[in-house]
Amino acid sequence: MTYCTEIKTLFETLGLAAPTDSAGGIAVHTPIDGSLLARVAPSTDAQVGAAIARAQARALSWRDSPAPKRGDLVRAFGEAVRRHKQPLGRLISLETGKIVQEGLGEVQEVVDICEFAVGLSRQLYGLSIASERAEHKLLETWHPLGVVGIISAFNFPMAVFAWNAALALVCGNTLVWKPSEKAPLSALALSGLLLQTSTELGLEAEGLSELLIGERAVGEALVAHPAVKLVSATGSTTMGRAVGIACAAQFKRSLLELGGNNAAIVCPSSNLELVVRGVAFSAAGTAGQRCTSLRRLIVHRSIYAALVAALVRVFERLPVGDPLADGTLVGPLIDQRAFDAMQQALKGARDAGAQVHFGDREAVGEAAAFYVRPAIVELATQSGPMLQETFAPILYVVPYDSFDEAIAINNAVSHGLSSAVFTQDLREAEVFTSARGSDCGIANVNIGTSGAEIGGAFGGEKETGGGRESGSDAWKAYMRRATNTINYGSSLPLAQGIRFEV
Ligand code: NAD
Repeated sequence: MTYCTEIKTLFETLGLAAPTDSAGGIAVHTPIDGSLLARVAPSTDAQVGAAIARAQARALSWRDSPAPKRGDLVRAFGEAVRRHKQPLGRLISLETGKIVQEGLGEVQEVVDICEFAVGLSRQLYGLSIASERAEHKLLETWHPLGVVGIISAFNFPMAVFAWNAALALVCGNTLVWKPSEKAPLSALALSGLLLQTSTELGLEAEGLSELLIGERAVGEALVAHPAVKLVSATGSTTMGRAVGIACAAQFKRSLLELGGNNAAIVCPSSNLELVVRGVAFSAAGTAGQRCTSLRRLIVHRSIYAALVAALVRVFERLPVGDPLADGTLVGPLIDQRAFDAMQQALKGARDAGAQVHFGDREAVGEAAAFYVRPAIVELATQSGPMLQETFAPILYVVPYDSFDEAIAINNAVSHGLSSAVFTQDLREAEVFTSARGSDCGIANVNIGTSGAEIGGAFGGEKETGGGRESGSDAWKAYMRRATNTINYGSSLPLAQGIRFEV
């Protein structure tokens, strides 16, 4: 069976209509061999406007539904996703080239965030605050925003939507989703399942979760629409800068989840066996195409040679190949652009005098598929391409002498998403996670930089955008807060003791 035929079968298994092939539509290729999976029609301007209008109308009734009732939808959706974990995981692998285990892991993340949101639907607490006035009550109440726009990147074509959607829905909002033009099939399947679930529950599905297909211009139209009250955008810093500025110009809320240039510090006391495993998964897993992928390794000079030699031995043996085959750990890059960017970064490093191990194209698949052996790049100091995010498996390694210097190197880049320290020294671990330690949104000890759990708030600082999604109190981004002062007496005392007698 060709991959194109398999896509149709997968949609049938999910009980959904297969994507209609649209001549002149956006061509979706599988990175596995570069073959065409489908051509999907982009949304026209009129369709974008109509979808947002439907979401705006539906938001008026959805906000009146009690939050635990809204949780019922998210629970049923999560159960539907769990039942269809295999075909959904397979679809992610076909569309993005993730290895089977990682495709399934992403679907599990969708299930997990739905469970989290169902619990949350009974915990959208406000505060009761002591009033300075007699017979007065001060409260904080939380209300839905209305329409939440979601823009997602290619590399997590289902999980990013779910992190936003599960929370936004229980918070009483409706959704308009613009997925990556490189992964619209995963979006068609997941949003199809959500609408199928709403209909099965007897809910009015129209406007609850609208899907827009298209490239950047469709995303721009979503951001520009006045009915969209929050834009949650996941992708490159270039995209986030444009979206953030457009939102600010309208005083619109934005939640930005952007690039990362993530580092790990390896200290002399660390367990090197654990380090090698943690580094290999973080740097080479998902072919280096996670926002949290490990890109910089900062190694104490005393263990530098031994660790680099161990990593070279592991990277040399990494099974690169067909992501659907048993045993493969590194699948293909998403496309030729990603491959070219990787080669350009490696050239820049070589020109700067780096020692480059691996990074070449592997002879796997067809001419239109881009498989690479993850690269290790040794530099004397942090410089050149190491200061940028290249969305490919390149691990830059530099030595350090003092722990303060290592932290300074960790923090000396423009992104601030994920970071880690490998150490058995309590003081180093505590300093790294303290105010004078890592400046990232994620700071781990003795695990790698990638693979966050949904229970914590996820996101990063600086050019990573500052947004937080998923667990903890990230739900607050999807609601507006009102402070209510209630006078249950018969006099009118003013705050701050002001007297204003009329
Ligand atoms: P991208 O920025 O090219 O595209 C992301 C999405 O933004 C797409 O849907 C695209 O159509 C849309 N878009 C682009 N420009 C836009 C604009 N001006 N206005 C509105 N929409 C616009 O990113 P990508 O190549 O799909 O994904 C890789 C990037 O995403 C990496 O930088 C990675 O680090 C980042 N990422 C971040 C996170 C996170 O949570 N921090 C998660 C996944 C990926």
